[in-house]
Amino acid sequence: MKKHSNIPIFIPELACPHQCVFCDQQKISGTHSIPGPDDVKDIVERHLKTIPENRIISIAFFGGSFTGLPVDLMEQYLKEAFMYVKSGRVSGIRLSTRPDYINKSVLELLKKYRVTTIELGIQSTNREVLQRSGRGHTVDHIKDASYLISKYGFELGLQMMIGLPGDNYERSIQTASDIVSLGAVNTRIYPAIVIKGTTLEKFYHEGEYTPLTLKQAVEWTKDIVQIFETGNIAIIRMGLHPSEELITGKSLIAGPFHASFKEMVMTQIWKEILDTELNKFNTRKVKITVSNKQIHYAIGYRQANRELLNSRGYNVRFVSNPGFSKYQINVCNN
Ligand code: SF4
Repeated sequence: MKKHSNIPIFIPELACPHQCVFCDQQKISGTHSIPGPDDVKDIVERHLKTIPENRIISIAFFGGSFTGLPVDLMEQYLKEAFMYVKSGRVSGIRLSTRPDYINKSVLELLKKYRVTTIELGIQSTNREVLQRSGRGHTVDHIKDASYLISKYGFELGLQMMIGLPGDNYERSIQTASDIVSLGAVNTRIYPAIVIKGTTLEKFYHEGEYTPLTLKQAVEWTKDIVQIFETGNIAIIRMGLHPSEELITGKSLIAGPFHASFKEMVMTQIWKEILDTELNKFNTRKVKITVSNKQIHYAIGYRQANRELLNSRGYNVRFVSNPGFSKYQINVCNN
């Protein structure tokens, strides 16, 4: 199967009228330089030189609510990207936006320029969470936009956040199940964190908001991943992109940020699989065979699963087999 590569073009939405409590709009609209339509060609050419052959390549307008741009400006960006689709050098265009910035005329415009995938940042399907997070859209907006996007033949992506104000485990699980029912083909899972300068920082200092611990975020995400995998939804990302500001802690006030978040989640998924399989076995000296793509997750982030098994008295040897499917496992006497 061919691999995908995105050429990301970050266009944060200027002067966004919304007030999502977790978002630092000033940083988005102030300090970063925003590529204009004239810059698209340079960005795409630069990336095309570095992408290996035989990839399915998309130009991806990320970073804001693309369809909230003035129509003329949106069309200028699309025209630049479309030249690459027409020439066959790129196979499609994808973009991210808000559910309330989707309507029939926008979708017709996106169809004209052969946009393939629309990702909606929905964050939650719980009314209270949306309201307390200042999202400015309703659950109905999410349902209507998802329906229209699929009806027009676009691939639908729905992104969610966990641990927003008013959220709890059951509500996050419900959001994940709703994402499956709404027909998404891909998703991203982001734990809410407290960024400097946001309303959430104020809530946090006033004691009105407590972020999830890293352990909670990993546990919730582990269960959410299983819902998406059962629903056949591709998980494009779990955990925030480790920007320099987050890694150095410059803009991070509190919350479950970790550069290896996905590894931690996968470690927990494998811990459950190993527990189940080893419970069927009564010897302690075992060889565990798993897929070569999963072996580092099975061993665990910083060897967590291996060390846990050692501490329980197991003498374990992990072996990889490229023929194994994702969660396939074989345990035998070593
Ligand atoms: S996250 Fe919310 S406030 Fe921030 S740019 Fe997007 S819609 Fe606007």
